[in-house]
Amino acid sequence: MPPVNTTVKPSASALSVPAGQASLNNVLIAEDDAMFRRILQSWLSGWGFQTQFASDGEQAWQMLQQEQAPQLLILDWMMPGVDGLQLCRRIRRQQDAIYRYILLVTSRDDKGDMVGGLDAGADDYLTKPFDKSELRARLAVGSRILALQRDLIAAREELRFQANHDPLTSAWNRGALLQIFQRELQRGARENSSTALLILDADHFKTVNDTHGHLAGDQVLKELVSRISGAVRPYDIVGRYGGEEFLVILPKCSAENALETAERIRVAVASRPFQIEGAAIELTVSVGATAAQSGITREIDLLATADAALYNAKAAGRNCVVVG
Ligand code: GH3
Ligand code: MG
Ligand code: MG
Ligand code: MG
Repeated sequence: MPPVNTTVKPSASALSVPAGQASLNNVLIAEDDAMFRRILQSWLSGWGFQTQFASDGEQAWQMLQQEQAPQLLILDWMMPGVDGLQLCRRIRRQQDAIYRYILLVTSRDDKGDMVGGLDAGADDYLTKPFDKSELRARLAVGSRILALQRDLIAAREELRFQANHDPLTSAWNRGALLQIFQRELQRGARENSSTALLILDADHFKTVNDTHGHLAGDQVLKELVSRISGAVRPYDIVGRYGGEEFLVILPKCSAENALETAERIRVAVASRPFQIEGAAIELTVSVGATAAQSGITREIDLLATADAALYNAKAAGRNCVVVG
């Protein structure tokens, strides 16, 4: 089910840092030994890392709850209060959180301890005293895995966007629109509020293509979506139903308000020509509007009602709104 109101296209750039996610250069170090903290600070800053320190597990946990908390963690096993192992378990229990790469550090070098550390959720394990170059290499492994994961998430978000949006206009696509409409109708029924629907069709669009070319027609469709979006509330849903037809879903909206909104859209389109590659292209839209009263109404019936209203708007001479 596509989330509503995510009209901002997520960036798929591997270089960008997604919102709420810190740079992969930031490392959180939880270590109760002050001397060891100083050593780590000096090594890591020499390798170009930004460091944050906690002297026990509880403090580290609090720091991890903040926005932009580091994803790369060095946790000492033995600490007063919440120790590194307990902190690992807590971090892994946290649902929907950004993945943290955990390097567990301890003076316990028993094989069973290592297994226990990995079982608790650590990604890697280092025994004290450890070699400087080994720590650097293991941090590089963590950074590499986090970078890979960040790129995979960005790619997944991009695919998710593409699955739900029209590639030309970036508006919601037909499949997403129908799912959102169904969900909004159910929500409206639960909350006893009316959900309205507009179907818009560009008038004589074939003539636009015939006169100015298909590419100019494409640009007109993009501009049309931006004019429609500019005329509705931020939480209204604008999508491309097909060709030069668009749907607008208006949650918590009466038939009367739907008429007003449709009229606002109609004027936003007709009031000034579309400036496309030096040409001023006149365009109008016809709109069919309807609203579901509270109580469950089937989306297919509302679509049919709005479609019939659109047909009547066309028959009435186009560039007008009809409520069905
Ligand atoms: P009416 O007022 O009755 O709606 O007339 P119309 O010309 O808009 O209707 P018709 O259905 O005859 O033509 C729709 C046109 O929209 C034809 C089709 O090529 C054009 N169209 C559909 N999708 C696209 C698109 O993605 N880009 C461009 N440029 N044109 C498109
Ligand atoms: Mg310790
Ligand atoms: Mg059409
Ligand atoms: Mg048309």
